Amino acid sequence: MASYYNENTILYLNGEFVKASEAKTDLYGQSLHYGYAVFEGIRSYRNVEGQTKIFKATEHFERLKNSAKALNLPYPWSTEELIGSTYQVLAKNNLQDAYIRPLVYAPANMSFALNTESHIAIEAWEMAPFLGDKLLRVMVSGFQRPNPKGFKIEAKASGHYVNSILASQEAKAAGYDEALLTDMNGYVAEGPGANVFFEKDGTLVTPATGNILPGITRATVIEICRELEFPVEEKLFTTAELKEADTAFFCGTAAEVIGWESLDGTLFKKRWNGSLGQQIQLAYQNRVIERQPEEKCIELENA
Ligand code: PMP
Repeated sequence: MASYYNENTILYLNGEFVKASEAKTDLYGQSLHYGYAVFEGIRSYRNVEGQTKIFKATEHFERLKNSAKALNLPYPWSTEELIGSTYQVLAKNNLQDAYIRPLVYAPANMSFALNTESHIAIEAWEMAPFLGDKLLRVMVSGFQRPNPKGFKIEAKASGHYVNSILASQEAKAAGYDEALLTDMNGYVAEGPGANVFFEKDGTLVTPATGNILPGITRATVIEICRELEFPVEEKLFTTAELKEADTAFFCGTAAEVIGWESLDGTLFKKRWNGSLGQQIQLAYQNRVIERQPEEKCIELENA
């Protein structure tokens, strides 16, 4: 098992900075028993100037607030204050390239009733950037994403991740790297913790919202496509259409942009190297560390 903290690790808990090894919570709450909690997955990067920068911090903390609202969890914090506390967590732990995990959870209450307050923890641990070099062998999961009429599917709710865990474990047990889940109607939805894009004849395609977590990386990829003038389309499509694609990739805060080798053993038609997906991957890597790709061109022109 990975080690997320040691004796010196500090986390943020309800307004205080405490040692992770000494932080306490109770065992009588809806969050642990019923999965009734919301969280975020955020990354910070050491930028080209050596500063620590949280990527899309506002977007992530706004989504945390919206997820809490969707689940009727009280949320008294401001985005600004939580971003400030997160930078303090990073500084106190000497972290630059890190994964950041805020969690909003319920106080002691074993009934299904509303609470009058929530707890918040912000944890962080080291995560090296750009690990996704290897192409993924993906399997269409036997599990579908939760029915959006049964869950607030656009919220990043802890309980939804039982579905992700089952799908990911199933794919790994079958010898694949990761799962791809369909929605309740059989259309492609997303991975257990990432959104999906494919490239076909020069156009990028991604599932429309409604049955997916609308990822912040997905939005960033769409922004990059607009900048690079790659046509991009949001629509419903089947796994059969996806298997006919030129290339495909997952994108998410943790996954960043990571290409696929195959889906259910069907290899993609084009090589990842030189694909539009790879150009998006490179643009994403520049963006998170605030490197201007144009700077290089200007330098070269001046040289
Ligand atoms: N879908 C699911 C189910 C996820 O857990 C994640 C990771 N948060 C994503 C998509 C990608 O979202 P983001 O780009 O905001 O990390």
